[in-house]
Amino acid sequence: MKSVRLLLFLLALLLLPGCGSPGADSPVRGEYPCRRELLAMDTIMTLTVYAQSEKDGQEILRQAAGCIQELEALLSVTEAGSEIYQANHSNGKPVSLSDEPRQLLAEALALCESTGGALDVTVYPVVRAWGFTTGEYRVPEAAELAGLLQKVDYTQAILEGDRLALPEGVELDLGAVAKGWTGDRLMALFRSAGVSSAIVELGGNVQALGAKPDGSPWRVAVQAPEGGYAGALEVVDKAVVTSGGYQRYFEQDGVAYCHIIDPSTGYPAESGLSSATIVADRGVQGDGLSTALFVMGRERAEAYWREHQDFDFILLGADGTAAITEGLEDSFSLYGKWEGCPLEVIRK
Ligand code: AMP
Ligand code: MG
Repeated sequence: MKSVRLLLFLLALLLLPGCGSPGADSPVRGEYPCRRELLAMDTIMTLTVYAQSEKDGQEILRQAAGCIQELEALLSVTEAGSEIYQANHSNGKPVSLSDEPRQLLAEALALCESTGGALDVTVYPVVRAWGFTTGEYRVPEAAELAGLLQKVDYTQAILEGDRLALPEGVELDLGAVAKGWTGDRLMALFRSAGVSSAIVELGGNVQALGAKPDGSPWRVAVQAPEGGYAGALEVVDKAVVTSGGYQRYFEQDGVAYCHIIDPSTGYPAESGLSSATIVADRGVQGDGLSTALFVMGRERAEAYWREHQDFDFILLGADGTAAITEGLEDSFSLYGKWEGCPLEVIRK
C-alpha cells in the first residue's frame, strides 16, 4: 500500500498558504512566512521559509522547487533520462556522472561501507522483484531472490573520478538517500539567499535551517507506526529523518511486507523495529542511516552509534518500547499513545 502517512507533523509552525506578514505593523527582518507544497520524488513536499519580503520568499521557493525538479531528473531510477537510469542500462560500460550524482553516490557508497552493507544502493533488482517500483506487489520465490542477490553488492559499483562502472545486471537505486541530499541542497540554497529560518518536509525527512524566527527551536513530531504521533522533538539546524515499515508496504495472506529490504536476505527487513529516526547535521547522513539502522535493528544500531556518535536516534520497537541516544534526552519526549511507554536512554 502506497502511502504518505510517513509525513512528520510540524508543530507550532505557521502553516499559511503562500506568503504573508505575520501581522505586525513593521515586520521584523526575515519574518514573512512563505510556504509551497509540491509533489516530487514520489512524495508530498512542504517548504517553508521566513523571508525579508513576500517577493523574496516567493522567488526563493521558486528556485527551491527548480532545484528539487533538477535533482529528481538526475537521480530518478525510473525516468529514462536520468543519469542513474543511464548507468543502470549501460550494459557494463562505464558512464560519466555529473557533479551532483557523483558526489551523492560517493557519499552513499561510504555509508554502505560504514553500515556493513545494511544500506546497499545496489538492492534495486530485489526492490523491483517485490513490486515496490511499480506498485504491482508480489512475494518472489526464494530461488528468484537468491538469484537476484548475486547482483546486490555495492562494492561492485566502481566510481573513479566521474566514471562509474557497473557490471552487467548490477543496478543502482539512490532512493534511500536522495531526499536527504535534496534537504541539504535546499538548506544551502536558503542560506545563500540570506534566509536564516526555514523548514522543509520531504516525506519522512524534515530538515530545519536555524531556529524559528523568534529564536525558539522547531518542534517536530515523530509519527507513531499505528497512526498519530509517538513523540515530539525540538531541533535547531538539524535533519530529522524517519524510515518506517509502515511508510510503504503491502499485505498478502495476512503478512505485511515493507519497502525496506535487508540486503543480506532479499526479504523486507524484520529487525523488530517499527521505525528508526535519525537526527543529524546533514540530511544525506540522516537518510542513509535511517534506512540502515531500520535494517540493523536495535542491538546493531546501538553498536553503530557507539562507534560513530556523530548523530542521534529514536528507535520505536514493534514491542512498544522506545530508545533514544543521550543527545536527545532533553529535547525528545513521548506523547499520545506512546506516553508512558518504556523509553531507554542509551549512553556512551
Ligand atoms: P528510505 O525510505 O529512505 O528508508 O529508503 C527506502 C527506499 O530505498 C526503498 O523504497 C528502496 O527504493 C530503497 N531501499 C530499500 N532497502 C534498501 C537498503 N537496504 N539499502 C538501500 N536502499 C534500500
Ligand atoms: Mg533513507
